[in-house]
Amino acid sequence: MAVPPGIGRSIGMAAIFSAMPEERRLQVYQTDQVRVTFDPNLCQHSGICLGALPAVFDVQRKRWIQPDKAPANAVMAAVARCPSGALQSHLVTSVIRSVPRPDGSG
Ligand code: SF4
Repeated sequence: MAVPPGIGRSIGMAAIFSAMPEERRLQVYQTDQVRVTFDPNLCQHSGICLGALPAVFDVQRKRWIQPDKAPANAVMAAVARCPSGALQSHLVTSVIRSVPRPDGSG
């Protein structure tokens, strides 16, 4: 598995910390299937997300979470491994109610 530059034991967690976005507001990343939020105030900089799904979580990119790079279930599984709760995910759903037709056909 490819590890993004700046991530790994030889470089240490300080490198992860310095590469993480400095913005302290809640960040939202969404596809039509899954919404991922990141609260930088909670992040413990473990790097678990980066190792779990490097195609989606890559601090070398300005937009460091790209949930469209993997299936929604894989994104949610990676988010679930976040030990601090900084990452959260939710399925994006749309509810289309079937309205019965007057003739009962639908
Ligand atoms: S897994 Fe969670 S706590 Fe660890 S670096 Fe990623 S967002 Fe931060």
